Amino acid sequence: MKKWALIIDVAKCVNCNNCVVSCRDEHVDNDFLPYAAAQPRKGHSWIDMHRKIRGNGPMVDVSYMPVMCNHCDNAPCMKFAGDGSIYKRPDGIVIMDPIRTKGRQDIVRSCPYKAISWNEERQVPQIWIFDAHLIDQKWKQPRCVQSCPTEAMQAILVDDVELKRLVAAESLEVRKPELGTRPRVFYRNMNRFTKCFIGGNIVAAHSGGQENVNGAVVRVLSGRTQVAEAITDAFGDFKIDGLDRDSGTYTVEAQHNLYGTANAAVSLGSSSYLGSLVLT
Ligand code: SF4
Ligand code: SF4
Repeated sequence: MKKWALIIDVAKCVNCNNCVVSCRDEHVDNDFLPYAAAQPRKGHSWIDMHRKIRGNGPMVDVSYMPVMCNHCDNAPCMKFAGDGSIYKRPDGIVIMDPIRTKGRQDIVRSCPYKAISWNEERQVPQIWIFDAHLIDQKWKQPRCVQSCPTEAMQAILVDDVELKRLVAAESLEVRKPELGTRPRVFYRNMNRFTKCFIGGNIVAAHSGGQENVNGAVVRVLSGRTQVAEAITDAFGDFKIDGLDRDSGTYTVEAQHNLYGTANAAVSLGSSSYLGSLVLT
């Protein structure tokens, strides 16, 4: 049986908010029973944007991650409701029945991702429904995917074996995997939110001043073990990504055959720019 999943590439998201707006355009003031009651005009965003800023000047990156109901395969909201009023369709989409969940404000707190909004006017809990009403009209993708100008979002209809293969092959990740909720919204390049980098600039003495060194080898070591390596670019810069936050002290060793070596120690809390290291 094939089921829907959503893949979002954090590296491609430019925070244009088209996905957010298209979801609102689809659902505000529009009843799609029995899938969902209309979204209210104010106070709801079934797709939300998270932002992460890493590093310190001048090496800073900003990333954006759209978040929404994950259509979990092991959904806490379904268990909490306990009466079938929240159910998973055979195609993997989770629906909160707008009739049967009426008055159940308590359901809002059942989602560990805070993906459920309470519609005060209609007295129902609500989520992004993967545009199931359109999918059932043979649409190939929900509105948010259709509206994304960078193709950062991709809706796929796959069986479990193919999904498992994709997750492994493309290093896809989910939010809060430790909860065991088995989300069906996956992220590519999620390390921009969950990991840190060490960056810096390698220079050498030249004509009474300093010049950036292209092609220096930079190694990051934990104790005596090398954990990563990079080569400086034309501006003498390096950036080694994918390190864990608060993961201890690292040694950074830079080396260039013509200009010599440089070393620095860094105690890694969050992403860190080391400034210029001078080869001697
Ligand atoms: S539409 Fe695409 S690029 Fe724009 S915010 Fe959404 S996911 Fe990011
Ligand atoms: S993300 Fe929250 S609302 Fe959506 S299926 Fe999972 S537990 Fe339920």
